[in-house]
Amino acid sequence: MTAQVIDGAAIAARLRERLADDIRAFTEASGAAPGLATVLVGEDPASQVYVASKRKQAAAVGIVDHHVHLDGGASAAEIAETIERLAGDPAVSGILLQLPLPEGLDAAPLIDLIPAAKDVDGLTTLSAGLLARGKPGLRPCTPSGVIELLDAAGVEISGARAVVVGRSELVGAPLAQLLTQRDATVTVAHSRTRDLAAVTRAADILVAAAGRPGLITAEHVQPGAAVIDVGIHRTPDGLRGDVDYDGVAEVAGWITPVPGGVGPMTIAMLLRNTLLAARMQRGEAI
Ligand code: NAP
Repeated sequence: MTAQVIDGAAIAARLRERLADDIRAFTEASGAAPGLATVLVGEDPASQVYVASKRKQAAAVGIVDHHVHLDGGASAAEIAETIERLAGDPAVSGILLQLPLPEGLDAAPLIDLIPAAKDVDGLTTLSAGLLARGKPGLRPCTPSGVIELLDAAGVEISGARAVVVGRSELVGAPLAQLLTQRDATVTVAHSRTRDLAAVTRAADILVAAAGRPGLITAEHVQPGAAVIDVGIHRTPDGLRGDVDYDGVAEVAGWITPVPGGVGPMTIAMLLRNTLLAARMQRGEAI
């Protein structure tokens, strides 16, 4: 194996320690701790686990919990009412609507009810516009986590050729923008890309966010490249990513494992966004 393993769990733990200090200082200076409202609709088991983990980690760094659980039969109007109430509550710094919503509910208009200053998932149309324009705002958590991992590992982003496999609103598209803003030369690949391996082999930084287990193999990777695996797949053998880890680790310069790579960073970025949101609401620049 040649690749250096980027330990996302350890990097996220260090980040949470620093955040806990920053949140303590913020709370002392402002007289109120940042507050996070997680809104869960229904009983989806995976969503329940994710929300529980977010709330636990938030509490551990000093963020006040404003969780709301609506039953699976809640109407769009009831969810909208909840978001609007939280939007007007000064104790709530950030609002997160856990996805997916139960079938039959359209998430996009509900997400857009979250004010940009409280949009800790960075998923509203307004937040996406701020990112596209390079203006200050809250950025989506998983793409921000990828940038943090590259920085923590000492991978040079400026001037690098980066290939992002995937163009979703949640991961691929915002990540391509963040990398461009850090002066990488970015190519976005997707399901219609011809000869994916030829495209990805040009990458100094290769991010796999396609949601296809084992899609990226050694033949997709330039020797010495940094390979970041965003994919998460539950298999009988445990969690797997979009990258064929064992094969790629023989070629890459850096690699993130699944689990223990990008995953832990996503929640750490949510916590950071909650502090940034609290600062914005006090009129501080972020
Ligand atoms: P998504 O909305 O399904 O988007 C997948 C993207 O990959 C699409 O743009 C699609 O292209 C592209 N794609 C699909 N098959 C491809 C192929 N064979 N070759 C090249 N591109 C291909 O998924 P997502 O929400 O972005 O999530 C992607 C993965 O990341 C999933 O495994 C998800 O579970 C994981 N994830 C992890 C975290 C974390 O915290 N680690 C957070 C979010 C998501 P088209 O646009 O052409 O359809």
